[in-house]
Amino acid sequence: MLRIAVSKGRIFRECIPLLARAGVVPRDDPDTSRKLILDTNQADVKLVIIRAADVPTYVQYGAAELGVTGKDVLMEHGGEGLYEPLDLGIARCRLMVAGPRRAARLHRRLRIATKYVQSTRRYYAALGQQVEIVKLYGSMELAPLVGLADRIVDLVDTGNTLRANGLVPLEHIADISSRLVVNKAAMKMKHAAVSALVDALGRAVEEQAQEPA
Ligand code: AMP
Repeated sequence: MLRIAVSKGRIFRECIPLLARAGVVPRDDPDTSRKLILDTNQADVKLVIIRAADVPTYVQYGAAELGVTGKDVLMEHGGEGLYEPLDLGIARCRLMVAGPRRAARLHRRLRIATKYVQSTRRYYAALGQQVEIVKLYGSMELAPLVGLADRIVDLVDTGNTLRANGLVPLEHIADISSRLVVNKAAMKMKHAAVSALVDALGRAVEEQAQEPA
């Protein structure tokens, strides 16, 4: 049995064509079904539907042999117990520092609101800049507008969310896309089945990249 942990929404939608090319077709749609374990056309492959941020934990503990999640999530998790064999090239965006166009001169440390605490800490540590990090769980764009923080660190795709809130992208931290992760023990114990699926998904990514968008 192979269980693939994947989140609903954009990652699921963009993952489906790759899985189909690799021969795996789910029998249900998580946007309309309330099932958390989806059967596929292959009796021994299931999809486990969970929050993107939980995917590394499920795979790390072997509750799913494989998973699909954003590099942003993996950078926060640290990747313990996981292999990351494949960049799926989907759900692309950038992790960025953003803030008001005209920032006031500060006589204290910058205060940064983010849910990406580890990535933010590493980024500013590498710059040698001391900052104060405020952990939030969503709607980071609000924080500079109400004086909670001077800047935010968040994912940016089109930039529309920043623009709508009078913020501009300031510094690029990392390019983000969804990655395939594999439980390290499953890679050994179920090597034939896991590597066959990883290889098939690798070919699917290459084929899709060669097609016009
Ligand atoms: P945008 O307005 O297109 O720049 O998108 C920014 C909003 O969408 C932010 O709230 C991000 O957290 C979220 N977002 C953008 N791209 C992704 C992605 N690949 N995965 C998850 N969230 C994303």
